[in-house]
Amino acid sequence: MAQARVLIVEDNIDNYELVRFLLERAGYETLWARSGREGIEMAKAGQPDLILMDLSLPEMDGWTATGQLKSNADIGSIPVIALTAHTLPGDRKRALEAGCDGYISKPIDLELFAETISRTLNKSKSKHQPKEKPEGGLTK
Ligand code: MN
Repeated sequence: MAQARVLIVEDNIDNYELVRFLLERAGYETLWARSGREGIEMAKAGQPDLILMDLSLPEMDGWTATGQLKSNADIGSIPVIALTAHTLPGDRKRALEAGCDGYISKPIDLELFAETISRTLNKSKSKHQPKEKPEGGLTK
């Protein structure tokens, strides 16, 4: 089975390089978009399994881009994790309200980063591919 593909939407090259390194080391394929607008285009073209969304982005911010992604029938089911230095109390809430499925703060906690990504991918996988019921077993 092909490795999961993760779209990184990030305008800061240092942040992008770090996130790409962490993802590729863990065996994921990566795509890169540098603005909210490019992120939407690349989500359509690249059909990633997960999107990591910076929030402060040129052209279109991450909140707006997430809202547009989530309201698009073709790409709306792709999970979006906000990845941001916005750590004011309202920021997490605002990211979730925009449609983000999760939230990772910068600077990145390596363990939490890996855990959040694999948990989100597993959750969305099980949503699309329900586990088969055991043969002949009674289901309660
Ligand atoms: Mn940014």
